[in-house]
This record gives sequence, C-alpha cells and structure tokens, in this order.
Amino acid sequence: MVQGVGFRPYVYNLARRFGLAGFVLNSPRGVFIEIEGDPATLKSFVAALPAEAPPLVRIAEIIRSEIPVLGDAAFSIHESDAAGSAFALVPPDICVCEACLADTRDAANRRYDYPFTNCTNCGPRYSIILDVPYDRPMTTMAEFAMCDNCLREYRDPENRRFHAQPNACPVCGPHLELVEPDSERGEAHRSSRAILSRVAELLREGRIVAWKGLGGYQLACDARQPAAVEELRRRKHRSEKPFAIMVADERVAESLCFVSAEERAALVSRERPIVLLRRRPDADLAEAVSPGNPTTGVMLPSTPMHDLLFRVVHECWGRDPALIMTSGNISEEPIVIDNTEAEERLGSVADVFVHHNRRIHTRVDDSVVRVVSGEVVPIRRARGYAPMPVFLGRGEAEILACGAQQKNTLCLTRAGFAIPSQHLGDLENFETLRFFEETLERMSRLFHVRPTAVAYDLHPGYLSTQYALGRRDLRPIGVQHHHAHIASCMAEHRLDGRVIGVAWDGTGFGTDSTIWGGEFLAADYLGFERFARLRPVLLAGGGSGVREPWRVARSYLLDTFGSIPASPVWSTMASPDRLRIVDAMLTRHVNTIPTSSAGRLFDAVASLIGLRHTVSFEGQAAMMLEAIASLDSHHADPYDFGLNGSSPIDIDLPPMIREIVAGVEAGQPQSLLAARFHATLVDLVAEVCRRMRAELQLNRVCLSGGCFQNAILLSGCVEVLRSDGFEVFSHREVPANDGGISLGQAAIACERLRQVG
Ligand SMILES: [Zn+2]
Ligand SMILES: [Zn+2]
Repeated sequence: MVQGVGFRPYVYNLARRFGLAGFVLNSPRGVFIEIEGDPATLKSFVAALPAEAPPLVRIAEIIRSEIPVLGDAAFSIHESDAAGSAFALVPPDICVCEACLADTRDAANRRYDYPFTNCTNCGPRYSIILDVPYDRPMTTMAEFAMCDNCLREYRDPENRRFHAQPNACPVCGPHLELVEPDSERGEAHRSSRAILSRVAELLREGRIVAWKGLGGYQLACDARQPAAVEELRRRKHRSEKPFAIMVADERVAESLCFVSAEERAALVSRERPIVLLRRRPDADLAEAVSPGNPTTGVMLPSTPMHDLLFRVVHECWGRDPALIMTSGNISEEPIVIDNTEAEERLGSVADVFVHHNRRIHTRVDDSVVRVVSGEVVPIRRARGYAPMPVFLGRGEAEILACGAQQKNTLCLTRAGFAIPSQHLGDLENFETLRFFEETLERMSRLFHVRPTAVAYDLHPGYLSTQYALGRRDLRPIGVQHHHAHIASCMAEHRLDGRVIGVAWDGTGFGTDSTIWGGEFLAADYLGFERFARLRPVLLAGGGSGVREPWRVARSYLLDTFGSIPASPVWSTMASPDRLRIVDAMLTRHVNTIPTSSAGRLFDAVASLIGLRHTVSFEGQAAMMLEAIASLDSHHADPYDFGLNGSSPIDIDLPPMIREIVAGVEAGQPQSLLAARFHATLVDLVAEVCRRMRAELQLNRVCLSGGCFQNAILLSGCVEVLRSDGFEVFSHREVPANDGGISLGQAAIACERLRQVG
C-alpha cells in the first residue's frame, strides 16, 4: 500500500537526504523508483526505504534490477503512469492525525475549526475514491477546486499536504449545512462552530441529530438522558442491541469504563474502532444504552468534525459529553450516505440534520473490536480497516466470494491478494442486497478484478448463494460454511497443510443438509474431514428457534431425560400452550431439524438457568451468559460430558445438562452455573483436540466461528491448548463470525483452481 499514503514525497525526501538522483512515480502495480548514486549509499537507501516509511505504508515486496548509469543530477516526482491494467491497493479511511488536529484547534491557523482538514497521513480514502490511480479527479473531492494556498501545499514535496488528494480549507473545501425541519434552508453560510453550537443546544434538550460522518450518517443523542436514548430506540426500531457511544478522549472513556493498556491502544489507534469495554458500576450512562449488558462500545472522535463537535458541546454544557453515535439507518438496513436520502429515510428518526457537501462514494460503517487476552479481536470490520487486503499467495486467480448471510462481506482476489469488503450487513432485505451488488461493482472497478469463478455458501436459502448461482458467467465453487471459517483463519496466518479446525457458531449448512455449528474439522484448503461434532439435537420450528432460546432448552431437556423434569421451574419458560406445542413437535419430530450448533447450545443453557428465554437479536443470550459467567471469580469446575462413536465422534452433553438442571433446581447462582458451562466447553475443546492430535498427528489448532468472540471461551481455549503444546491460531484480521467467511471461501476457491484446475 504505497499510493495515497505519502509514499512518493517520503521517497523524494529520503533520496535527497542521501544525495541520490532519479525519480519516483505511481504505477499500476505500485510505486516505481529509478535511483542512482554510489553503491554503498544506494544500499543504505534501500535499507531505509521500508524501515522509515510513513505509518500507512505497507510494502509487500521490493523488486530490484540494475540499469546503466544515466548521470542524472537531481531527484524528482513524476506524474502517475496510468497505462496498463491498473492494480493498486487502496488505503482505508484513517483518523485525523495530531498535526491536523493541532491546525484545527489553533485560532491563528487558517484551518481553525475546519471540519474537513486532512493531510497525506490522515483523512478519508476508501470512502471517497472512485478509481485508481488515486488522484484528486478520481475522488469525490474533484468537484472542489483548490485555492492558491491549498494548491501551493499540494505541490510542495516538503509539505505535509503534498499530493494529499482530499486537501481542503474553509475557502475552497466542503462545508457543513444544518437543516432543522421547522426552519428555512440556506444555513450554508453559518460557520461550522455556529452550526455545531446549535447542535449542542439541541442535544442538551434531548433531541436526536442525524449527522453526516465519514462513511455514512450517524445518529447522535445525549447518552446520559434516558428519555432521549429510549426515544432513539423506539424510532430506530431497535429494542435491545447495544448502542455505541463516542466520548472526547481516553480520559473520559476511563471515567465510564474499565480500560486496560491494550484497550486504550485500540481506542486511540488510527483505525479508531468502537472498542467493547466493561462499564464502571457508577457510570452515569442511561440504562437504555446497552440494556442488560455490562459492556458498552466506546469510540473516540476520528475526524476533525467529531473533534470540533465535542469541543463545542463541552463549551456549551460545561461538562464532558457522552454521545450515542450509532449508524444512520433503520433497523438492519445499510447506513445512509446521501443528503436527500438521509432526510427521506431518517426523517422519522432524527429531529435535525447536519449535512455537508462532500459526497460519500462508498459507505463504510464504524468498526467494532474487543480485546481478549491482550489481543485486539475484530468483531465488525469496516472503517479504518477495509479495504486492507490479506496476502494469500495462492495463484493469480480472480475470484468473487459471496460470503454467508449474517454480517455479510464479500471478497475479491487478484494477484495473490484477497480483498475483503467492508461489513455489509445481514443479507435479508432488498436494500442490503443492493448494497452488496453496489459494493461488488465498485470494488471490481477499483481493483480491476474480472472474476472467473464465484465461491458461495452451501445454504440454498441465503441471498448470497442465490446471487452466486445466478451468475451464469462464473464458475460456481460451493464451500461448506465451517470449512470456510477454518480457511479464513488459516489464510490470515498463512498456514499451509492440514490443521485442527474448531468451528463453532450459530448456524451453518452442512453437507448432509442439517444445521451444523459445533464442529471439529481436520481441514486443509482443499477439503475437510468432520472429526467430531456436538451430538445433534432437534430444533423445533426452524428459524424462529433463534429468537426463542427456550425451544432449544426444551430440546436438550427431552434429549437428556426423555421427558420434561417434574420441578415447576421448567413450566415457566413460555406459556403453557406454547410449551405443549413445542414439546409435541420435538417428541413427534414434526417440523424439526437436527442441529449440532454450539450457538444453540449457548441459547439452551441461558434459558435453562433462567437468564433469558427469548432474545431480540442473535447471540444475545450467549452474550448475557458470558457476562454473568465473568462475575464468578472462582475457578469453576467443568461438568462431565461423553465422547462416543466415530466419523464423526459425537460429543454427548446429557451429563452436563443433568448437572445444570440439578444446579438450577437446587437454587445455585446463575453466575456459577454459567461459569461451569464455559469451563466445560474449554475442557471438551481441549479433549477433542488431544484426540485429533493423537489420531491424525496434527498440532496446529484454528479457532473460528462466532462463538470464539466469547472472551471466556477464546482465552480459555487458547490458554489450555497452548499449555498442552498446541500451536493455536485465532482471528486478528477478519472477524471470527460470518463476517470472515468470504475470506475463507476465497482462499479455498483459489487453492482449488490452482491445484485441481
Ligand atoms: Zn493529517
Ligand atoms: Zn483552500
């Protein structure tokens, strides 16, 4: 990644420092440098090149060849060479740098309070780039002609804004516009500060503001006012899924949440993701920010616009604000990016709109991470990360991988790179499918990819699968869901050969047309053997089982005891009528499907211990189970389980279910039951991995699937397996959940084309 990240001026200044002659230019395959001087100095130059590079630069390879000495005297920067089929990596959007922030905070600077300040080291990239090579006419900044001052900076190789394509100032660049439905339009000439002062007053009054951020609209309100947060939930049709908040800096974050050194580093990192943090008991946030959940997603300002908002709000309120900062969309639709669209779609949600006139070309949501055992684990990969590639190095095939259904991403490959898209959302409605197609079209153009094959999930009901199979022009390559999970983890760590793959998630279509999700696979890129699984239980009523954990709890009870135990606690999980119907479905095998899903096991246990019988989003019960287990500070003993049969081995859970039921009937605390449940999972993962090592002589373990976003499960498995001598790999680049699936599909398809043809 050497374009749009200040690499050419860096090379220019480095060459001048060493007194070398030649030139540097952007070429379709990266950066081309011609350089001459005495051999020893050249050697130092080449050594310094990667070592001292600017922060956003990523060098994959330096290819060198010698040419006759030309006798050049000076070093210069040449215009881009756009010839040929361009392929260059595009940088992600990066948070404002310290120097630019200082400019906007300095009353004497010409960019004082200017929300669109940026330089070569910071600012928007992916969200505004239309095509490569990355030059201003190829961005949404093309419509703004630079003033003389900006142009001077832009042309000066020693200036921080040399070839900073989005370079702008209050004279020549974009500006804010405030739209209050009750007042007239035409506020464009009010200063940014005046507009945001008005916004600060409105926020203090408990109003909801839609505001055009970097990758899309965000909805903001005061996170300390219960009525405002509840109103936002009502209008956004979002019942319980947590909202993220934004605060001015890490000091304010620490006043609300516990923040470890690694979490602080993630908060202030240039990707500026939402970091999931444990709230302090005395944090004065409204309960509705993250109902029933001890963690809150926190992010810091990532643009000068956010920074200015927080400064102005602080001045207006006389205290540090904590603002809800959530995606500007209704329910699960894609985030809104267009000014007119915003007023149409978000008109029923927001009281006022803060627009600006820099177009967002590509919508990019906020990213989400959490820190587990000191490592940053991606949960949602979007702004700041996309479209960073993963180097696969498995041939040159150009492939489209369509991902799964939930948390969908797509992935394109070219020249050995896999380029996962930003988070697109759940592919369950027309709007998200359109976003998928739009992203595919734009990424194909941006990276000049013309796919010849399409990789897809085996689930026939997924829109991504239907889209893939509708592409008659592409060769179809079906990939089993959990195989793709393991391959995504292998691809991140560039693992070759066979590994032990532990793929645990909520739902994935199996090769036997049942629902899988608690899988131990011996896998390489070409194939897998299902070595072990959670022994399947019946899921009553298909899809609705996901929102009603009590259904799978009934299934585990019937599976374990043959009938529902007599204690009255089991008669209150749902209404008597519904219990009777579901019990009948399960005993008569009517409208049921077998599942080995680990996600459903979490649901079952959450319901059994009385924590949660219904949920409003997938994974909610598991989240609550993890939260309550983390309250148990004692070393929790695992329950018993059985391993039976072979090909695959069935992991039998009745011994555990029996002990949990006895614990519930004896009135044991939920935290203890939940902690022992987690300990059991760690124990059984380790036990099955040991068997696989003994039988298959494999020692590398890949942990993937949404369940491995559970910190207790992930850190527990990593610790136990490592102490047992295993090499353990988990996700750092793409999420363990279905957001990472497309990378695995792409890696598998590339290898299949390379080896099998
Ligand atoms: Zn900057
Ligand atoms: Zn200007």
